[in-house]
Amino acid sequence: MKLQVCAKTDIGLRRKNNEDLFFVDEKMGLFIVADGMGGHAAGEVASQIAVETICQSLQTTDQNSPQEQLKQAIENANQAVEQAARGNNKWQGMGTTLTILLLKQQQGYLAHVGDSRIYHLHNSQFEQLSDDHSLVGEQLRQGILTPEQAKISSMGNILLQAIGMTPQLNICQKNIALTVGDRFLLCSDGLTDMVSDQKIEKILKQSVPLTPLCETLIEQAIVAGGKDNITAVILQIDQLDSAESK
Ligand code: CA
Repeated sequence: MKLQVCAKTDIGLRRKNNEDLFFVDEKMGLFIVADGMGGHAAGEVASQIAVETICQSLQTTDQNSPQEQLKQAIENANQAVEQAARGNNKWQGMGTTLTILLLKQQQGYLAHVGDSRIYHLHNSQFEQLSDDHSLVGEQLRQGILTPEQAKISSMGNILLQAIGMTPQLNICQKNIALTVGDRFLLCSDGLTDMVSDQKIEKILKQSVPLTPLCETLIEQAIVAGGKDNITAVILQIDQLDSAESK
């Protein structure tokens, strides 16, 4: 498989630390965005532990299907963050979102917890693949809020589940067939709270290299106020392996 990738993170304009973290490994086909939370820089610790645990788990457990591997890796990360928090007073209550895309053969495997997001651009179709595990996201799904009401809801940041904070996770998992030319965007809410889906879609559809695309997304979030850390990982599928080769 041939890919192009660009990943950037920015502290934004209001925060003192950057608790977001991205991980990109083209060889493994592994792409992660984690948005940590917790005082005293604990958010940075949580996202770091979660990402490290995911990488380790995926390298060691190989017999299972990619979906099973990802599920196990996320459960391991959940335990690792929770245990670290229990072992250090300063880290109590820390947690993180995790949004993962694993590319294998001709498939993209998504596994996700929290309110970071993954978008997919296929031909000219732009779609959010991940559910937002936030109160507002749930109210939207249930039709309690309209999209307009959701945008201005004061409860926008309340998460329903997060790595390290929720003993029984309800992991969002999907897999999709990959097509040459597909683009994916993994990002934290520091982008999506500041920049509308319509704007993100317009930027992602531009036929320009990924680096300026990534820079434009971050810039737009900053211009809109940069209230939170901003992370964007964009990848583009340039060539797929034939179905027989592994
Ligand atoms: Ca955030």
